[in-house]
Amino acid sequence: MAKGSIGVTTNNIFPVIKKFLYSDHEIFLRELVSNAVDATQKLKTLAVAGDYNGPTEGLKVSVKLDKEAGTLTVSDQGIGMTEEEVDKYINQIAFSGAEEFLNKYKDSASAIIGHFGLGFYSAFMVAKKVEIHTKSYQDDAKAVLWTCDGSPEYEMSECDKAERGTDIVLYIDDDEKEFLEQSRISTLLHKYCKFLPVPVIFGKEQEWKDGKYVDTDKDKVINDVEPLWTRKPTDLKDEDYIKFYHAIQPAQDDPLFWIHLNVDYPFTLTGILYFPKIKNNLDIRKDRIQLYCNQVFVTDSVEGVVPEFMMLLQGVIDSPDIPLNVSRSYLQADRNVKKISSYITKKVASRLEEISKTDAKAFEQKWNDIKIFIEYGMLSDEKFKEAASKFALLQNTDGKFFKLDEYKELIKGNQTDKDDNLIYLYATDKTAQYSYIKAAQDKGYDVLLMDGQLDIPFVGLLEQMNEKSRFVRVDSDVVDNLVRKEDSKDAEFSTQEREIATTLFKSQIPNIEKSEFMVTYAAMSPAAQPVVITQSEYMRRMKDMAVFQPGMSFYGEFPDAYNFTLNTSHPLIKRVVDQAKSALSDQLKPIEDELTATNAVIKAIRDLDKDNKGVPDDKKDDLKKNEDKAQALRDKKEEIITTYAKEQDTVKQLIDIALLGNGLLKGEDLNKFLKRSVDLLS
Ligand code: ADP
Repeated sequence: MAKGSIGVTTNNIFPVIKKFLYSDHEIFLRELVSNAVDATQKLKTLAVAGDYNGPTEGLKVSVKLDKEAGTLTVSDQGIGMTEEEVDKYINQIAFSGAEEFLNKYKDSASAIIGHFGLGFYSAFMVAKKVEIHTKSYQDDAKAVLWTCDGSPEYEMSECDKAERGTDIVLYIDDDEKEFLEQSRISTLLHKYCKFLPVPVIFGKEQEWKDGKYVDTDKDKVINDVEPLWTRKPTDLKDEDYIKFYHAIQPAQDDPLFWIHLNVDYPFTLTGILYFPKIKNNLDIRKDRIQLYCNQVFVTDSVEGVVPEFMMLLQGVIDSPDIPLNVSRSYLQADRNVKKISSYITKKVASRLEEISKTDAKAFEQKWNDIKIFIEYGMLSDEKFKEAASKFALLQNTDGKFFKLDEYKELIKGNQTDKDDNLIYLYATDKTAQYSYIKAAQDKGYDVLLMDGQLDIPFVGLLEQMNEKSRFVRVDSDVVDNLVRKEDSKDAEFSTQEREIATTLFKSQIPNIEKSEFMVTYAAMSPAAQPVVITQSEYMRRMKDMAVFQPGMSFYGEFPDAYNFTLNTSHPLIKRVVDQAKSALSDQLKPIEDELTATNAVIKAIRDLDKDNKGVPDDKKDDLKKNEDKAQALRDKKEEIITTYAKEQDTVKQLIDIALLGNGLLKGEDLNKFLKRSVDLLS
């Protein structure tokens, strides 16, 4: 029997393994099963090369638990090891700078394991003693038994193992008893080994007999040795992809599309990415793409490997070229990873472009489901933005779809303003903004529907991408001003009429929480609405953006500022203002005369201040007195108009109809309106 000390330069590697690798104990199983699979694959390779002549069919790996003995055994029928090989591969874990490295990566279990090829030694995270029973494929090789109890000393001797291959026997630590549980091991195998290329057997298939499940004689294979991504796309049907999707993402709707990735230069990568049907909430889960390395599951947190927006996708990526066992920051800086990330972006974009060309109808139908993904991508990834601008769609309020360029052509003729800006009109709510949409359409404009969750920032992006273009929401101004083709026509009211009309209406607008109204005038068509409520694009957009940018949240606190625009060409508006004018002229005339006189006095005093140094001291009192008087007269005027307005049901009715049209009339005010409407009819 040989005895020796394991050649680790650090005095004792095992305490380190146990101490630092606590969080990832379960990966020992992945490491051991992968080693067993590797040994099996190597034997097949030797057979292909003619260096091994025995049979290679039916080779498998098996995992067994023996609760009584307290052991977990991983067995394979692979190449096995000779005594020299055990010595070379197991005993001489020679590496330099070990201590330095261990210190650097002590928080990252898998970093240590991967870096040193300590795969096998991870067994000591859960075992107090490990045995290797192995017999090489080589002719007349002797079987070897290697034993180590977790100290740097091992024992090695000949043994009588009849079959070629290796059994790794773990005597599970008392603190790690969970790894003797059938269900725990089954879960782990399912997690890490589901797609390994050699059949992995754990337990027996069961059948329902006499009211319970009982084991049959048939071995239970836990893995699919030829997962879909390893097969040729030309051999696969849609059903295969959909079935595989459901196998990896249970309880999901069918995917919308998928992309089968397959590269072998300048790096090797295969995989399938699926576009899921995303429910209406922006449901970004970061564990939807699984990363494999030669069919061994590594992780489902792929940050850094795929661009952020791709995390909306689901599926698998398999690449031996991703340095898997390293820290995340290292991963993100890795050149291969960067190449992979941009390759995936390119591939996804070109596949989408292809679908949009070959099956435009299907693409349009699915647009609303994938739009969030594409907009997210365009907003967050420069390259994807460029690529996607070829296939991204805009949808108008009639449900028609357009590519970005197509749409530009469509509206160029009619929606270019006097300063040569292209005006894209849009609505965010087809129902609530119906009357504005209709008014714009009646004018021959096209209106886009931008009601997606990312449409607000997306509108900003489109403006950036296209010079001399602006997006204007249909209700941000009266229809004649949406696309200003000439300097706007002056409203038809005189100053005096405006003064009356402003108070007449403003005094009767009900108080609405967090809303402010400013009465303005426009000479629209007589057939247009008498009153149009609009909200300035700029302020509204600031408030909308506040939702996306925490630094802007103060905008969210501002009241909604509305323009309450009177159509001075509308007969009803003309009528109520004319009526007010004649009804109030007797009362207002003397006040206005006095106001004119007072204003003249104020002006005369101000004129004394020729060099802008302030009015002379002896005139200051006089000025103040007259200014107060003028204010009092204006207040009086306002009071007279307000008192009159209170009795004007038509004015109130006009206001309420406009508010109602914008969903702003609620509660008691709505009730009053309904009552007044009935009264007016009777
Ligand atoms: P790695 O697998 O990263 O090389 P390990 O510590 O897991 O590192 O294994 C070291 C070496 O031991 C392997 O490269 C292989 O040569 C040998 N080995 C481990 N397990 C087996 C096995 N089941 N059959 C044959 N050889 C094995």
